[in-house]
Amino acid sequence: MTTARRSLLKGAAALAALSAVPLPALAQPFLFSPTSELMPKGKKRRVVVLGGGWGGLSTAKHLRQTAPDLEVVLVEKNPIFWSCPLSNKWLIDVVDTQFLVHSYTGPARRWGYTYIQTEITDIDRDKKRVHTAQGHLDYDWLVVSAGIRVSYEPWFGNDRKAISHTLTHYSSAYVPSAEHLALKQKIKSFKGGTFVMTLPPPPHRCPPSPYERACLIAAYFQRNKIPAKILILDPKPRIAPIGAGYKLAFEDLYDDIITHVPNARVKELDPFNRVVKTTAGDFKFDDAIFMGHHQAADLVWKMGAIGKTPDGKPSTWAAVHPEYYNLKDDPNVFVIGDSVGAVSPQFGHYPKSGHVANRMGRSVAQYIAQQAKEQAMKPVIIDNLCYMLVNTEPLEAISVQFDYKMGPEGHLIQTQVDDHERRKQLWEEDLRWYATMIEDFAAG
Ligand SMILES: Cc1cc2nc3c(=O)[nH]c(=O)nc-3n(C[C@H](O)[C@H](O)[C@H](O)COP(=O)(O)OP(=O)(O)OC[C@H]3O[C@@H](n4cnc5c(N)ncnc54)[C@H](O)[C@@H]3O)c2cc1C
Repeated sequence: MTTARRSLLKGAAALAALSAVPLPALAQPFLFSPTSELMPKGKKRRVVVLGGGWGGLSTAKHLRQTAPDLEVVLVEKNPIFWSCPLSNKWLIDVVDTQFLVHSYTGPARRWGYTYIQTEITDIDRDKKRVHTAQGHLDYDWLVVSAGIRVSYEPWFGNDRKAISHTLTHYSSAYVPSAEHLALKQKIKSFKGGTFVMTLPPPPHRCPPSPYERACLIAAYFQRNKIPAKILILDPKPRIAPIGAGYKLAFEDLYDDIITHVPNARVKELDPFNRVVKTTAGDFKFDDAIFMGHHQAADLVWKMGAIGKTPDGKPSTWAAVHPEYYNLKDDPNVFVIGDSVGAVSPQFGHYPKSGHVANRMGRSVAQYIAQQAKEQAMKPVIIDNLCYMLVNTEPLEAISVQFDYKMGPEGHLIQTQVDDHERRKQLWEEDLRWYATMIEDFAAG
């Protein structure tokens, strides 16, 4: 008899013996109830951080250092951290998946905060309570860094069929999700023809990144001899930021592939017949990436923190203090990262970048520590830095830096320095920048 057959018979005998023994009553399956308390509060005062992206992870880590006496709980729906920065490079295999993906449990263990993986469903600011799919939890301070939502309603109204078709076939991969995988497959299986990319109207997440994406997709098509034309339909009158650097890259490297069309605001999109009508003309396409309008994340709408335009309409972004990022009527509640609305009459929004979200998270960790000690909050001035890869053979990047200071009139002033000269050194700096950021908040 073979060993496999002997152990099979042994297993069958064991099973038969087991069935003769009366079994203890099975435990009731454990069901989460959204109405039950997910994590009762202990003696320590608690900060709940919503969203484990660039802002949320930075806040949770730095709070453990600035306010070790507070309990810190990070709530995030995804099981792993997926970085949007560097994801354009991943689309065409300049970096691999390990570069972008990091565990949530690693940094939680390393820094000593609690990570709960669940969907946040609502925020009750009166009760200081967060509702999740698995129950609720109470807070003393709340930090919301939930990123953006992509809205297709301005194009389609409530036409769910058109929205769903666009999301399924032409999604933009601008939030950490499976959309990135779908986009990578789309690029790799494109056989040729017109590839359209629309940009959202500003303000939107990472303003220079759509042009970087166009360069990298063009580089991939060029290397693989795919007979493709990329049309960038841009609602802005010119490329910005790093306009001259991108223009040079388009002309020098991708003249036969990329066409940038300015003042091309989408008026109508027919995703079924593949026609997009814009203020700069109508375009047929074979494949596309449609970037819907960017707005503050759903949670910011639910918590009632959306600002108003001068004519009383929703601004679609969070109304927060320009330096402390807390709500006017709720100083223990902070909104940071890409959801933040206009902060200055000079420049409007901070650039919606991972760098800025990290800086805001670090600042808020200090503000909460100061509030906990009943000290006055000392404003921290932040900065921004972005590198964009425009060439792959050789690897060359351009960059933009933003600095801020408080102006004599009591509002923030921005200075911007574009570095248009593409070179390898900037790509190397980009890799160093990313490694420093990951070590700051995402490494376990
Ligand atoms: C292609 C691309 C390239 C980029 N390149 C750069 C770059 O080079 N440099 C740079 O600085 N920035 C870059 N960015 C921008 C950067 O990704 C964002 O600015 C940054 O992620 C914003 O941080 P955040 O914390 O506001 O949002 P996110 O990092 O998006 O985090 C939000 C988190 O909240 C979670 N969440 C939302 N709602 C819920 C809910 N209801 N329940 C539970 N969890 C929830 C989400 O799952 C997510 O993990 C790039 C972005 C893109 C798309």
